[in-house]
Amino acid sequence: MQLALNASAALNVILAVFFVGAVLTVNTGNTLASPAIVRQPTHMVVPVTPSMRVTRSAGVSGISSRQNIAPKSTARLDFLEASPYHDQSGIPVNTHKNKAPLTTKVVSVERIVGPKATGETCNIVIDHAGKMPYWEGQSAGVIPPGIDPKRNKPYGVRLYSIASTRYGDKFDGKTMTLCVRRATYWDPELGREDPAKKGVCSNYLCDAKPGTELALTGPSGKVMLMPEATPEAPIIMLATGTGIAPYRGFLRRLFVENTEASDKFKGLAWLFLGVANSDALLYDEDWKSMQEKYPDQFRYDVALSREQKNKKGGKMYIQDKVEEYGKEVFELMNLGAHIYFCGLKGMMPGVLEAMENVAKDQGLSWEDTLKAWKKSGQWHVEVY
Ligand code: FAD
Repeated sequence: MQLALNASAALNVILAVFFVGAVLTVNTGNTLASPAIVRQPTHMVVPVTPSMRVTRSAGVSGISSRQNIAPKSTARLDFLEASPYHDQSGIPVNTHKNKAPLTTKVVSVERIVGPKATGETCNIVIDHAGKMPYWEGQSAGVIPPGIDPKRNKPYGVRLYSIASTRYGDKFDGKTMTLCVRRATYWDPELGREDPAKKGVCSNYLCDAKPGTELALTGPSGKVMLMPEATPEAPIIMLATGTGIAPYRGFLRRLFVENTEASDKFKGLAWLFLGVANSDALLYDEDWKSMQEKYPDQFRYDVALSREQKNKKGGKMYIQDKVEEYGKEVFELMNLGAHIYFCGLKGMMPGVLEAMENVAKDQGLSWEDTLKAWKKSGQWHVEVY
C-alpha cells in the first residue's frame, strides 16, 4: 500500500516523477514534480537590505519582520549547523531551566497586523547574545515578572514558538524572534474588555520596550522540527494565527538564508494560513514575495473566516482549504510529505474531520491512514 512507503521508497517515487516530468499540478499552474523546479544552486551573496519597518526599535540595524525575500539573501551561513546538517542528535533542549532562566533583552516590538485585525499581534525580537541556541520549530519559555496573585508565587513560564531561524533575523545567531498575540478578556456583562483580566505574559511582551529584560527558558520541543534528512520531502504547514511562528523559521531557512539546508531542499513548501480577515494576515508580504521568487517550490493559501465563504456558503476556515485541496495533500503525503499543524487547539477537530472526508472520498480508512502517517513521523502537531 502506498502509505506503507518507507522514506527511501518515497524518495524514489519523487525522483521517478521528476524524470517523467509529471503530474501534481499546483495552483500556480506549475508542475510540482518537473525538472524545472530544481532550484539553481547559485547564491547571490548580497548584503541584507532590511526594510526597517520597526517600531520601538533599539536602533539595532538589520532587524525587521519584513526583510526583502531575495534568493539566498545572506552570506553563507554554517556556524550553527550540525554535521551532517540534518543530524538532530545534538539538538539543544532546556539549556536554560525554569529555576535558572537566561536574562535577555528585547530589541524591538512591532505590531504586524492592520487596523481591522481582530486583536493585536506583535513581532518581538530578543537578544540572547548567542547563549540560547535553538533549532527551527522549537519554542522558548518566557517568565513574566511579578507574583501570581492566585498562587502567591512568581508567575509561571509561558511557551512561545520561535519565529526565526537559528541564525535569527540578524543572521548572527544572537537573536530570536517571537510572534505574540496579546491576550485580552472580553467581558460580556461589561460589554467591553476587562483590563484586569488581560493575559499577563503576552501583554508584557507586546508592551515591552527596547532594552526590557526578559527571563527566557528552553529551548524546548522536538515535535515541529523540519524533515531535513529527506530534503525532497514536501512540507505542508497549517497555521491559525500565531501558529505561523514556526513556519516563519522554516521558510526563512528554506528560501532566505544561504545554507546547506536551503541548497538541498528540493521539495514543495505549502503554507495554509487561517485568520479572521486580511488585516490579520501575518507576514503576508513575505509569503507573497517568496511565492513570486519560488513559484514552483512555495505555495501559499489563506482562509479568511470573516471575508471569504466556503463552498457551502459558510465562513472560510482552514479546514475548508484542506478539504478543497485534500486530494493533492493526500498525494503529497503518499510521496513522503510532512504535515504540520500549529496554532489554536480549536483548529484540530475541523481539520481532522476535513481530512477524514478526503480519506472517505478516496475509499481509504482514515484511521489507518492517520496511523501510518504518525508511525512514519510525517504528522506534526503543536496546538495550544
Ligand atoms: P494568562 O495570564 O496566562 O491568561 C490566559 C487567558 O486567561 C488570557 O486570555 C486572559 O485574558 C484570560 N484571563 C485572565 N484572567 C481571567 C479571569 N479572571 N477570568 C477569565 N479569563 C481570564 N502564543 C502566542 O501568542 N504565540 C506563540 O507563538 C505561542 N506559541 C505557543 C507554543 C506552545 C507550545 C504553547 C503551549 C503555547 C503557545 N502560545 C503562543 C500561548 C502562550 O504560551 C500563552 O498561553 C498566551 O500568550 C497567553 O498567556 P498570558 O500570560 O498572556 O495569559
